[in-house]
Amino acid sequence: MYKFGLIGYPLGHSISAVIQHAGLQDIGLEGSYEAFETKPEDLLERLKFFKHNDFNGFNITIPLKTIIYPYLDDIDEKAGIVGCVNTVKINSDKSLAGSNTDIYGFKSAIPKNIVLRGKSAAILGTGGAARAAVAGLSELGISHIDFYTRNIINSNQVLTFLREKFRNISFNVYQIQPPKNLSDISILINATPIGMRGYMMDEMPIFIQDLETLPKDAVVYDIIYNPTKTLLLQQAERLGLQTISGLDMLIYQAQKSIELWTGKTPDTKVMKIAALEAL
Ligand code: NAP
Repeated sequence: MYKFGLIGYPLGHSISAVIQHAGLQDIGLEGSYEAFETKPEDLLERLKFFKHNDFNGFNITIPLKTIIYPYLDDIDEKAGIVGCVNTVKINSDKSLAGSNTDIYGFKSAIPKNIVLRGKSAAILGTGGAARAAVAGLSELGISHIDFYTRNIINSNQVLTFLREKFRNISFNVYQIQPPKNLSDISILINATPIGMRGYMMDEMPIFIQDLETLPKDAVVYDIIYNPTKTLLLQQAERLGLQTISGLDMLIYQAQKSIELWTGKTPDTKVMKIAALEAL
């Protein structure tokens, strides 16, 4: 029987186990997927536990996505590009291979008829999900990204890193708070936790007046998956803008994790149905 896990802290609201079980069932594989709350100081012990108990792989969430780097034997190109690992395969020799499936998840959730080549994006937040979004947007040919952050000084390091990695994209960074004009933006992405269940769920990461400045054909993409329709997405819909929920990103990144672990590709439809039933 295959064994998989999820590590991070806290894991209270995670629906990953439900999605992964549906995916494993779909490919006809008998396997377990369990959440193991793990604080940074307990990471080494958790990795030993996985190896000694013949786990095949695990996912990683906040706050371990970068902290895990020194423990990995191999990191693939995608994880190297964003400096963030969310999937680890435990090989038969017990070596650990790190990947980032958030990039695939982010990109795959964008419907194929949305053309972003040569366009401009705005991203709220500069954390791990924001970096995965940049990599996904780069693959889709975006040419400019404006970041909005609560602390410009803290984001300098990230911006230097991204400018170095993505030379085909120009970047600017602004303070998130004063109202802004988004009239030249084709896609607005929320990569902060503002609007998430259990953390400022009744708030928006930007002002409604900001949303109103977006062009009528702009897309609003909220990386948050619970609730599936955040206040930001509700307001964007009210304005007639096209919206994308973070649930699709979550499903696609889970699909890619299973593919990396088993070589088989589960159907995202069954995974999404399981997720919606659990939310
Ligand atoms: P992270 O690395 O901690 O980054 C969070 C970002 O949001 C940081 O830039 C942080 O700013 C900013 N932020 C946090 N609270 C804020 C506030 N009150 N006001 C303004 N900015 C704030 O987290 P992450 O991994 O990128 O995750 C971000 C969100 O994406 C979470 O809700 C997570 O659940 C979701 N996510 C979804 C998926 C999916 O598959 N759908 C995948 C990954 C993540 P500072 O730098 O100043 O702290």
